[in-house]
Formats: sequence, C-alpha cells, structure tokens
Amino acid sequence: MSGQQHILEIPWHETRILNCFFCGRMISRIYWEDDEFPDKKFCEASCADVKRSLINHAQTGAQ
Ligand SMILES: [Zn+2]
Repeated sequence: MSGQQHILEIPWHETRILNCFFCGRMISRIYWEDDEFPDKKFCEASCADVKRSLINHAQTGAQ
C-alpha cells in the first residue's frame, strides 16, 4: 500500500460528517488517502487495500 495518513482539521462550526469512501464508516479525525485513489478518503489503510484487492479480483475474473 502507498498513501498518506491525514488528520482532519474541522472547524467547530462544521457539522458535516465525513464517511469512508469504501465502507461508509464515519471518519472522526484521522483518515487515509491512498495514492491509487486520489481525492478519496478511507477510514484506514487496510480499507483501501480491500478496495484494491476487489478491483484486482474483478479484473482477473473478467478475462
Ligand atoms: Zn473504510
């Protein structure tokens, strides 16, 4: 896996809730940004790994 962990800086008046791009779990403060999925926020690195393996699986299955 390659990516970066980020910390959300949410202002006190911001009530919007952020959810993981893949599993939908609420992201409270720390999220994972994966190099393969730019602009997507994951709850943790392993979640992006599952997403990646699903894509690889679908690609090999289609051929
Ligand atoms: Zn997730």
